[in-house]
Amino acid sequence: MSLELVTVPCRADNYAFLLHDAATGQTALVDAPEAAPIQAALSARGWRLTDILLTHHHGDHVEGVDALRSGARVIGAAGDAHRLPPLDLAVAPGDAVTVCGEAIGVIDVPGHTVGHIAFHFPETGAVMTGDSLMALGCGRLFEGTAAQMWDSLSRLARLPPETIVCSGHEYTLSNARFALSVDPDNPALQARAGAVEAARSRGEATVPSSLAEELATNPFLRAGHAYMKARMGLPAAPDKEVFAAIRAAKDRF
Ligand code: ZN
Ligand code: FE
Repeated sequence: MSLELVTVPCRADNYAFLLHDAATGQTALVDAPEAAPIQAALSARGWRLTDILLTHHHGDHVEGVDALRSGARVIGAAGDAHRLPPLDLAVAPGDAVTVCGEAIGVIDVPGHTVGHIAFHFPETGAVMTGDSLMALGCGRLFEGTAAQMWDSLSRLARLPPETIVCSGHEYTLSNARFALSVDPDNPALQARAGAVEAARSRGEATVPSSLAEELATNPFLRAGHAYMKARMGLPAAPDKEVFAAIRAAKDRF
């Protein structure tokens, strides 16, 4: 049984996601950047929230929780419970959690923040990554280290390649420009950058993406490739050092 997935644009460039189980009528929200567009998406479909899943503590992912939480179970990282909205269920990686009838995986993805988690819906084939793995990018390192983020991205990279990657922001066009600067000879990236530019000029979302396309085109997932190591001037360096160099180059771009 796979859940229906709806992308809800919020604020300037955030995305929230709804997952709905037609059999039971349960509906989960992933991140709550802003209440009004999420309420509108729910009432347009006649859905009512049963769960709110939070990837990390930043305001642009949690500010809508208070207005949306009535009747819903709020789920977030136990390690970050002190700075998340009050949680009804505090989870840690490896916990058995069921959302909308689906047994989901909680994946530790520190880097952008230290308590950041991702939610994997294996039957639906989707992973909710917030500001860890993003379309053609990854979140800025506000709290964690490059080594932590590399380990986080490596955990996500081991999911089935057909997995749909639901990330938190529409940053893909600027991410594509940076990606081309560090990986200019990659035909898959060239094609995707063109498609992203066309989609954005039509006002279309470029999120979600698939893990397969991220593996082929996202420079932050490609730090282990010999070509990328050479491009970064680090032909013999360990993967996580190459990742750190790519992340630092993006911060300066
Ligand atoms: Zn964030
Ligand atoms: Fe964010």
